[in-house]
Amino acid sequence: MTDDDTGPVSAEWSHRTTPHSRPVELWPLDPVVVVGNGPVGQTAALLLARWGVPTIVLDRRAERDLVGSKAICQQRDALDVWESLGAHVASHGVTWTTARTFYRSDELSAMTMTDPGRSPLPPFVNISQSRTEQLLDERMADSPLIDVRWGQGVDSVTQDGGGVTVSGPGFTLHTPYLLVCAGARSDALRALLGVDFGGHSFDDRFLICDIRASLPGWASERRFYFDPAWNPGRQVLIHPCPDSTYRIDWQVPPDYDLDAEVAAGALDERVRAIVGEVSYEIVWKSVYRFHTRCVDRMRVGRVLLAGDAAHLYAPFGARGLNSGVGDAENAAWKIAFVGRDWSGADELLESYHAERHAAARENLSVTSATMDFLVPQSAAAAAHRRDVLERARAEVAARALVDSGRLAEPFWYADSPLTTADPARPFAGRPPRGAAPPPGPGVIVPDLPVVGPGSLRRLCRDGLLVLAAPGADLAVAAGAAAAVAPVPARAADMAALSAELPGLLGARDGEWWVVRPDAHLAAVVTEAEQLGPALCRTLARARIVSRARPARLGDIATASGRPC
Ligand SMILES: Cc1cc2nc3c(=O)[nH]c(=O)nc-3n(C[C@H](O)[C@H](O)[C@H](O)COP(=O)(O)OP(=O)(O)OC[C@H]3O[C@@H](n4cnc5c(N)ncnc54)[C@H](O)[C@@H]3O)c2cc1C
Repeated sequence: MTDDDTGPVSAEWSHRTTPHSRPVELWPLDPVVVVGNGPVGQTAALLLARWGVPTIVLDRRAERDLVGSKAICQQRDALDVWESLGAHVASHGVTWTTARTFYRSDELSAMTMTDPGRSPLPPFVNISQSRTEQLLDERMADSPLIDVRWGQGVDSVTQDGGGVTVSGPGFTLHTPYLLVCAGARSDALRALLGVDFGGHSFDDRFLICDIRASLPGWASERRFYFDPAWNPGRQVLIHPCPDSTYRIDWQVPPDYDLDAEVAAGALDERVRAIVGEVSYEIVWKSVYRFHTRCVDRMRVGRVLLAGDAAHLYAPFGARGLNSGVGDAENAAWKIAFVGRDWSGADELLESYHAERHAAARENLSVTSATMDFLVPQSAAAAAHRRDVLERARAEVAARALVDSGRLAEPFWYADSPLTTADPARPFAGRPPRGAAPPPGPGVIVPDLPVVGPGSLRRLCRDGLLVLAAPGADLAVAAGAAAAVAPVPARAADMAALSAELPGLLGARDGEWWVVRPDAHLAAVVTEAEQLGPALCRTLARARIVSRARPARLGDIATASGRPC
């Protein structure tokens, strides 16, 4: 992809679709304030800019400090969001496709990640969080809509029906909507908003060392070791990173003292037990405790919480930043639509809580199960772990019970108030590890190359999309898209986009598929008169009130102004 692929799809482009040009109307309100210039705040500001929404990004730090070692493992759909913003994070990282799991000296499994579509992006890349932040900074610097203000810590938030007032030492700002992306240490902001941050912290500690070394054969795999000889009774995780760097993550006892280990020269022995007698350099080292917490509300009036400010997960599975990107994308299109009065205001903002809190609960459930297995909290749980690992040496069935982390995946909005359920495609729940749910309402559509805009996701991100499956009338889809104007909406012939697309989606003849601006499927309908209500629901609107040219009447059942 090039930078030119990131903007709106050309208004001229048409391949059996109805063209529309993207926004569009100037943002009618004050800039949106984003608290926190970490990767979630950065992503949110860039996404809002893509929707033509100006932001002021406040951060209490004096400047970007590119130190530390946090997220490394970024999943395809988060990478895809960044690609859409012109931040080519994937090409700066190390691609890996296989996750190997060992117990003592035996290899239990080697899982290779698959693609539900034909995305140009790999399932995962490893890249340091600081490099990701740098790449996002570069894109932000190019945007006239983003105003970054370092050294401005927010310590007061109040709101009324008209907006939100944020202030800190020496500044006060009034904003229509506030996005709180202030990270884990947002206790004061959460208290100001009256949200609870329930959960717990684990006693066990994890030592993380990023080392630079030449380790042939280790560069494209994630390796997870249960009870290796060099960390008996505990585990070690090894990830390849760019520049011949490897992240080694040891589970260590609760009373572990890194300084004492360094002073005694034992850290070198610890590293050498894994890498042998090669020369290596320690790039970063630190000890972490992990937390599993979530706010009880992700939306408080005109304030939305995103990323670590809203949820903290143990990092096995890489769900922290990856899910923060999902929060940012969900929040951005909703703020853009509500601010322009394109949707039911209260309902669409509330759907942010409904959808992203459900995603957070799913992430908590998945990562908590992993931690229960990795760090058993009772004698019975420890016995279960031992038993499963022993059996897994010989029994293939027991290997499925070995939990070294279910890797990040996009959440499915099957139960969202914006989603129209399809009785022919009931959501079957969390799919097996490594698999994606079949396309259906709530699920993100797989990506693939399409004629015209280059990729299906790119077309989706341009607004609402109504796809006509083979045998479904494109004119009906076009009429439905036109009826929601000025909301950017487009209709397209599925098979004309790609002959593969109907099969990939599992579309049946005569269906219309409604896709949201974040590429999640909102509805699949078979009757023309169901399309208008499905679009209304996607926009959280009681009815379509078109403010632009009338729909092509006759093609569409729900015409301008008609209640859903
Ligand atoms: C060891 C480790 C490994 C991890 N690995 C992964 C991984 O592989 N993949 C993954 O997806 N995630 C991973 N994570 C999680 C990931 O690091 C976080 O989810 C991510 O940093 C969250 O970003 P954020 O923008 O929400 O918060 P942060 O990165 O914490 O940024 C918050 C920003 O807000 C600012 N701020 C705070 N308070 C205020 C205030 N009152 N006013 C103004 N500014 C304020 C801060 O200065 C900061 O710049 C890992 C985490 C750890 C600890």
